[in-house]
Amino acid sequence: MSDAYQHYIDGEWRDSDGDSFTSENPATGETLGRFQRATDEEPDRAVSAAETAFEEWRSLSRIDRAEYLWDIYHELRDRHEELGRAVTRECGKEISEGKADVTEAWHMVEWAAGDARHPKGDVVPSEIPAKDAYMRRKPRGVTACITPWNFPVAIPFWHMAVTLVEGNTVVWKPAEQTPLCGQIIAEMFDDVGVPDGVFNLVQGFGDTGAAMVDDDRVRTVLFTGSAEVGHQIAEAVAGDPSKRAACEMGGKNAIVVTEEADLDIAVHAAVMSSFKTTGQRCVSSERLVVHTDVYDEFKQRFVEVAEEIAVGDPLETETFMGPLIEADHVDKVSSYNDLARTEGVNVLVDRTDLPDAEVPDGHEEGHWVGPFVYEADPAEPLRCTHEEVFGPHVALLEYDGDIERAIEIHNDTDYGLAGAVISEDYRQINHYRDHAEVGLAYGNLPCIGAEVQLPFGGVKKSGNGYPSAREVIEAVTDRTAWTLNNDEDIEMAQGLSADIKTRKD
Ligand code: ADP
Repeated sequence: MSDAYQHYIDGEWRDSDGDSFTSENPATGETLGRFQRATDEEPDRAVSAAETAFEEWRSLSRIDRAEYLWDIYHELRDRHEELGRAVTRECGKEISEGKADVTEAWHMVEWAAGDARHPKGDVVPSEIPAKDAYMRRKPRGVTACITPWNFPVAIPFWHMAVTLVEGNTVVWKPAEQTPLCGQIIAEMFDDVGVPDGVFNLVQGFGDTGAAMVDDDRVRTVLFTGSAEVGHQIAEAVAGDPSKRAACEMGGKNAIVVTEEADLDIAVHAAVMSSFKTTGQRCVSSERLVVHTDVYDEFKQRFVEVAEEIAVGDPLETETFMGPLIEADHVDKVSSYNDLARTEGVNVLVDRTDLPDAEVPDGHEEGHWVGPFVYEADPAEPLRCTHEEVFGPHVALLEYDGDIERAIEIHNDTDYGLAGAVISEDYRQINHYRDHAEVGLAYGNLPCIGAEVQLPFGGVKKSGNGYPSAREVIEAVTDRTAWTLNNDEDIEMAQGLSADIKTRKD
């Protein structure tokens, strides 16, 4: 299968006997590359390589391990333009988003590699003066990283940067929609000469991810993707108490606009949150919870922008929204738009089927969908206002009363990933901060826009840990208590007698 890109296992590019699959540009339908699809053999081989490499890798100092990451950092910076364009061509994000994806990746690498020279662990007091007590961290071993298509460069590094610096080895499976970004990243690891087996790339679909999860030699699974798959993974590892899975999943995120809000900020934040990445961020907002006093004005202004927002070629800087990722996803988003209608909502903007005139020349095969905006009664248990659509599908939900009522609507979802409050009243903002059931909360900002030095993850159905950013350390290391006696006698804590008494005493 020589015309197809290979897997990268144990420091070598390898063929497999499986079928191949292609990566397609969602804006044009153009084929970007052909890739070998893993059989059962590749995840098995990759895990073996990662297991073998582990002992040597963990025995390097954190600082030496981080040196390899610094080389990756420079590769990411040097290849920013190329990789940013690859992101946009492969997943359809507008070009500044494509480049930001790469920037976020090097920020994560910079953070992890820089952290290598910082203290790690704790010096802990002991009851016994002659004892030195510490909390130390040990790497857990082979780590499976399973990533989605929508941040095809940033998320892999959220998973892998800290994981590698801490001394674990990695088997990574990128999303089947973005194997080309996976290929370029693997080339970087190959170019910088990371020791064989420390980083492995296996290209494939869900069955390959599942095989990695089920492999007993994999000690930790880091997963970012859908709630459905995340829950399957959490269940699959639950039978083995020594195995760990940190899963970050979707959301039905909301923005609360209070009666005190600055409506310029509110509309701006809502548009960014709902339509950036064509609504395909796990933190995208599909619900806008707006106080009745400002509802009409907010609605009019938000609708005006949604009617006019520029949908088009993501490589053009004038574009705000690119295409959806694939044809099946167009079907899914369209069917939720239909469902909303069936559920009796009041549709305000419907650009589901973009007219031909709005589709840029040469992009007729793209997966185009424009904004769909409606108003619904927050008291109704509608599916369209409770289930994640993952597209530019936005509900306006009017509320009357105080911030508690807004929070009730905001929290009326099984998910708990991201949210925002727009208000000029600090008491309302603080109330939101303390009561919003989310892992990522923002005040007077969009509910998108993570930075790597903050934790990233959700609560409720949105997450069971942190496969991302700095908190990933909790998933990929075991804490150990290490206590050293500096005396010639043994003295115990809690007044426990250390005397050995025999029958002769
Ligand atoms: P999305 O809906 O964003 O595509 P998915 O959860 O379907 O999210 O996919 C995210 C990642 O999980 C992809 O790399 C995909 O191949 C992988 N995946 C899908 N199904 C499984 C599974 N059953 N076990 C492990 N990984 C899976």
